[in-house]
Amino acid sequence: MPEPVPEVCLTFDNGPEPEVTPGVLAVLARRRIRAIFFLVGQKLRDPVARACAERAKAEGHAIGNHTLTHGAPLGTRSAAEAVAEIAETDALLGVLHGPDRLFRPNGGGGRLGPHLLNRAAADHLVANRHTVLLWNAVPGDFRDPDGWAATAHGMLRATAETVVLVLHDQANGAMRHLDRFLGEAVQAGARFGATPPDTCVPMRRGVPGADLARYVT
Ligand SMILES: [Zn+2]
Repeated sequence: MPEPVPEVCLTFDNGPEPEVTPGVLAVLARRRIRAIFFLVGQKLRDPVARACAERAKAEGHAIGNHTLTHGAPLGTRSAAEAVAEIAETDALLGVLHGPDRLFRPNGGGGRLGPHLLNRAAADHLVANRHTVLLWNAVPGDFRDPDGWAATAHGMLRATAETVVLVLHDQANGAMRHLDRFLGEAVQAGARFGATPPDTCVPMRRGVPGADLARYVT
């Protein structure tokens, strides 16, 4: 029986980082792989970081909102704080947003659960027609800069549905392994650029899915 082909939606969180993001973009361009970059809003106040985000958009990648400060998860914050984390980042993103107005809450080491959002944040996301993109594969490049690629290969082999893979364009050295990881994954049959599965999209352009309540305090 043929092995199933892993379909992968590749995402990079917590940037842009001027020391790292350009190298990631160069690898993706050479390999003709499109990704989604979820940006920390306050980093866009640095013009050099903003230029990295503009380059990512110009090179065909999608850009999303990953909160203003990447502080405590929004489900643990006040209504006003949670809304400000989203709204101020949207203002900083401006034209970098695509029509889906992508948003990804921070989970604290990749955990999924009701700590991701509070009611005010969820209502704000509906009112502003956001698409919420979560994840189903966090190989932990942030804590294991040299071992994450092996972990990620295991996740691609083990996951039957489309993989929404979370990596980080951060300055801990993990992205040194990106090019080799992508090459090995393609050789193993992975197809990048996949549409995320409904199980990772609890809200689409402001329309809540059945799962949204699982992510709201
Ligand atoms: Zn994050």
